[in-house]
Amino acid sequence: MCIGCELSQQLSSCFSQAVLARAGTTSRRRVLQAGALMAASAVAPSLLKGDAQAAPANGKADWLFEGGTILTMESDRPRAEAVAVRGREIVYVGDRRGAQAWVGPATQRVDLKGGMLLPGLIDSHVHPMVGALLRSGVGLKIEWQEREVLDAIATYVKANPGTGVFFGQGWNSNLFRAQGGPHRRDLDAISADRPIFFFSSDGHSGWANSKALELAGITAKTPDPPVGGYVRDQDGQPTGYIREVPAMLPVINALNLLDPGTYGPTLLKLLRQFSAMGFTSVFDAAMPFGQIPVFTAVQQLDQKGDLPVRLHTTQVVTSEDDVQNAVQSLTELRSKFGSEHFQISTVKVVGDGVIENRQAALLEPYLEPAGTYGRLAISTDSLVKLLRQCHQAGFDLHYHTIGDASLRQALDALATCRQAGQDPKLTLAHVQIVDDADQARLARLKPLISSTGIWCIRFQEVEKAIGTERYSKMFRFGRLQRDHGLNVALGSDWPATYASGTLGIEPMLNVQAAILRQPPPPLLEAMKGSLGPNASEPLPPMQDAFTLNGALEAYTIAGARQLGIDSITGSIKVGKRADLCVLDQDLTRLPTEQIYSTRCMLTLMDGVSRHDARQAS
Ligand SMILES: [Zn+2]
Ligand SMILES: [Zn+2]
Repeated sequence: MCIGCELSQQLSSCFSQAVLARAGTTSRRRVLQAGALMAASAVAPSLLKGDAQAAPANGKADWLFEGGTILTMESDRPRAEAVAVRGREIVYVGDRRGAQAWVGPATQRVDLKGGMLLPGLIDSHVHPMVGALLRSGVGLKIEWQEREVLDAIATYVKANPGTGVFFGQGWNSNLFRAQGGPHRRDLDAISADRPIFFFSSDGHSGWANSKALELAGITAKTPDPPVGGYVRDQDGQPTGYIREVPAMLPVINALNLLDPGTYGPTLLKLLRQFSAMGFTSVFDAAMPFGQIPVFTAVQQLDQKGDLPVRLHTTQVVTSEDDVQNAVQSLTELRSKFGSEHFQISTVKVVGDGVIENRQAALLEPYLEPAGTYGRLAISTDSLVKLLRQCHQAGFDLHYHTIGDASLRQALDALATCRQAGQDPKLTLAHVQIVDDADQARLARLKPLISSTGIWCIRFQEVEKAIGTERYSKMFRFGRLQRDHGLNVALGSDWPATYASGTLGIEPMLNVQAAILRQPPPPLLEAMKGSLGPNASEPLPPMQDAFTLNGALEAYTIAGARQLGIDSITGSIKVGKRADLCVLDQDLTRLPTEQIYSTRCMLTLMDGVSRHDARQAS
């Protein structure tokens, strides 16, 4: 399911690396103490307190929110009646009477109209930088057949005379099977003198015309990279059908697809979609394409005040070779990049693969093909070494684990560090299959966890691969969060799922799925029967389902702790930054089955409106 992680896996070493010192590193112990507090505090109206602050000494509020349910994600004051914002900070959290002292002629009063105010949402594992590239250029439809695809490209070329590159994405990688994949001659017939390049919908394949191959210097003599390659005609000439990202990189570079001037606006467009869903912080869990131009584009956006979310990203490790230099290269990147809302301070380890391609590392073999176990990317000794290095340098480690063997490796490594008196900050991403013994160790060792709500549903291909018993031991973190105080965050892992649209990013779709462990209707529709006949039944074990409060915590303060920014965001508290989102419905009064239909009406990041749909409503 994790295409972003998969792409990173194929790639990370192809490019130089990442960025900036972060403002303050949250210790793991502090995260857990805070997590335990949150777990202990249900959202109880009886805890509502009165005035939170004295009246303003100088100046009035820029914003006042009232008239709906306000969940603060603060254990000592879970609810409030009113919130005031001045400049980039929250200045008042309390009852409506006390808030009036903050109202001046220029204060924007926001009536929640029975809806809800939450802290700005945080996607704790997603791949927007990859997603922006995959979604840039001309969009083809995945359901189109060969003729429709060629007609669409021809129409686009005709409509855009002049010079420059024809670029896009979205063709179904199952097309052109009869002729051994797509061929450059079909694109040459549309334009021979200007380069054409199209990604497939899953991002794993590319299709180039002769001009694009020429500019990239790809000929019959060009060797295939270790992963992927160039499909060739009988005479050895490349057909233009390119498999996997490492082989596509020369074309991506030659056509300058990552030029900050063109890539920046594409990324900005995507990040604005995050704002429109209520997000104010996003963790990009590894981007496998050229990092330097992409990071330059992000930094330029932030310097202009255009970056609509806090964006954190990573340095990726996918093999033993990467381990040696990971911390050093991250340190170098940190010295070159980074701005107020853009930080690179995490090493990402892709610990294993995914179940779908049988690369997730299992303790017991797959059922089909029988006897295979998947594989671990690096040794446990290397992981221990990396955890120690990260800890010393003040970096976090984000570890992709799908299979129960990779989870065991991560817990073994963490336990080794703890025994030596070290307490590195480790986040386990996905945590799909959990052996019983390791479930108990998770409760004891309390690593941070980041997973995805819409993955907590039935998927028959996975059940076929691992069998019913292990299938009933997936995504077991509801209880860890509730009863053991683990810091469990939720993120979308987009575009891992549903790359053809942004549906998978929708936070309330994920929240509903995390609570019910069933696909909400739009998801069921989008998957069009590919989930299997039992897709609408809940995924066991239901004791591990999230509560509403747990899922909202996972999308707010838990994500802030994961990113080490909980001192400034993730909850509604006086002195924190005004990262807020207004929802059109009160989730605490809504039937769970309707949570997915909730829309974000207004998003503030640092007190600045980044999305406002109130006029349209
Ligand atoms: Zn992953
Ligand atoms: Zn991922």
